Order: sequence, then structure tokens, then C-alpha cells
Amino acid sequence: MASEFDLIARYFTRTAPAGLLGVGDDCALFPVPPGEQVATSTDLLLEGRHFFPDVDPRALGHKALAVNLSDLAAMGARPIGCVLGLALPRLDEPWLAAFADGFHALADAHGCPLIGGDTTRSAHDLAISVTVFGAVPAGQALRRDGAQAGDDIWVSGELGAADVAYRLLDGQYPADAALLAATRGALEWPQPQVALGLALRGIAHAAIDLSDGLLQDLGHILAASRVGACLEYARMPAATALAGMDEAPLSRAVLGGGDVYQLCFTAPAARRDAVEAVGRLANARVTRIGQTLPQTGLTVLDGQGRTMSALPAGFDHFPAA
Ligand code: ADP
Ligand code: MG
Repeated sequence: MASEFDLIARYFTRTAPAGLLGVGDDCALFPVPPGEQVATSTDLLLEGRHFFPDVDPRALGHKALAVNLSDLAAMGARPIGCVLGLALPRLDEPWLAAFADGFHALADAHGCPLIGGDTTRSAHDLAISVTVFGAVPAGQALRRDGAQAGDDIWVSGELGAADVAYRLLDGQYPADAALLAATRGALEWPQPQVALGLALRGIAHAAIDLSDGLLQDLGHILAASRVGACLEYARMPAATALAGMDEAPLSRAVLGGGDVYQLCFTAPAARRDAVEAVGRLANARVTRIGQTLPQTGLTVLDGQGRTMSALPAGFDHFPAA
């Protein structure tokens, strides 16, 4: 029977890059380059709330880190390393091996080594907590409070696929194998836009990553920056997989769907070419979807220029009654 320490040695101990002290001591150690700040963020994923119990463990390992790397991307921070807290209801080594594979593959792809963590047994459900550390030159982080009235509003990637995949898997939509096959990757294998976030430093005024839905997440930028916004629905980069969907579920997925892990950011209109150029450089589709305004409030115009009503609310763990 493997002990806690065997498991850590087998699945979570990798040789740390030179200059870092990784798994094996009471703390990990990493240097902070002079003139840079540490950016750190943590996300907790709970079975039954953030993922289905039968999800592919490799995808889960990937996503647990991806959602955290997405936070670094949204700040324009370069990944340094991460720590992993695991509460496991049972010892299932094939599951752990696949989870660790998915986790380490993404960590390697982004130069974000696993340098510590904690492993315990839980009474019931599986819980995963990942904390990432990144570095950003002092004063250059892409914060939520930097948007200025008259900025363009941009979004990377495509919108809506993860929401549709989630509702299909959750039984909210009738089974549709083709639609699930076309959308599931967006839900289970999100690709954090780290290169785009880094390239947007010095160009974007404000940024956020889309975890709870475009309107809600953009709302955080607007509130922090004390500006409003007008968006054009016809410009939205709806996922191609959703072509042919009914208008109501489509707009709900595009404007309100969570789990996107793309970036929403604002930039001065004078920097349009620069935004397009860094999008090409980072291999990311970037789409201009609207503008910030001096007066507060968020409106979305439909294809005819009319204000859309009944906009979807984003995700909230504790919605007001
Ligand atoms: P402590 O008792 O000091 O908290 P532990 O016995 O919990 O130490 O952990 C031993 C070492 O293994 C530490 O360096 C810790 O960071 C690391 N570790 C434990 N669990 C994990 C995990 N899931 N992923 C990565 N490192 C881990
Ligand atoms: Mg411990």
C-alpha cells in the first residue's frame, strides 16, 4: 500500500529547475528578479461543483492548473511555479497518474513547475486547490482598474462553447452527441492565454480572464475603473461549433457562459494595430466587441442597433435570494 510520501514522490516530485527549491522541504524557494513583483492567485475546485465526478482525470489535472495560469495571463504575469493541495477520498493510482500527467504537461508547456503542495485524505469528495506564482515588472501588471472611457473592448478566442458543453453534460439540454463532441474540449481543456497576456503589457489598460461569463467579468473591470460600456452583439466571436443554435441559448452562452478562460481587455483605440499584431504573435484570435463609456452601465446592442433586454447573469456561488 502506497504511503502519502510514496504518492508525493511518485506523482508530484519532479526535478526543480536550477535556482528553485521544489518538493521535499518545508517550503519551496524561488527567486524574484529585481524590479519585479510576485503575482499570485489560488483556485479551489470541488467535485460536483466545479467538475463532474467522472471527468477524465487527465483533463482535470490540466484544467486545475489552466484556470490558475489564466489568472496570471489576465495580469500579464510570467509563470514561475505552482503548489497543489489535494484532498483525496480514496487511493486510486491510475486516476492519480493520469491527473498528474495532465497537470505536469501543462506546467511544462508554460514553464510553471510544481514546487510544493499538500496531500490529505478527505471524508467524501475530491477537492483540488492550486496556487500559482508569477512575476511581472513592478507597475506593469494588467489590473482591472485601469480602463479609461473611450477604450476599445476586446476579447480573445471564441465564446459560448464551454457553457453549451456543460449544459449538455448536466442534462439541461437534450442529448446531442455531435454538439457535445464539438464543444467538450472548450470545457475540459481550456488553454490559458499566457502569451497574449504578456504581450498586452504596455498596450492594454485593463484585463480580466473570463471565468464567470463575459458580461459579469467585464462588469468587474467597469466597476473597478468607474466607467460604463456598450457592446455590439453582432461582433461577438461565438464559437463556430454553435452555428445553427437557437438565438436564446446562443446569446446566453456567448454573453453569460462561464469557464471560457479567454481574456477580456480594454485598450486605447489608437492601439488597434498593436492589439492585432500581438494577437498574431501570440497565436490568439482577438475581436473588438465594443467600447467603454464615461457614464456607468453596460448595454448590449443587437444587430439592428437596439438595446438587448433580459441579458444573462453570470455565475455566482451565492446568488442573492
Ligand atoms: P509538511 O508536513 O511540512 O507540510 P508534507 O509532508 O505535507 O510536509 O509534504 C512534504 C513535501 O511534499 C513538501 O515539500 C510539500 O510541499 C510536498 N507536497 C505534498 N503534497 C504535494 C502535492 N500534492 N503536490 C506537490 N507537492 C506536494
Ligand atoms: Mg503538509
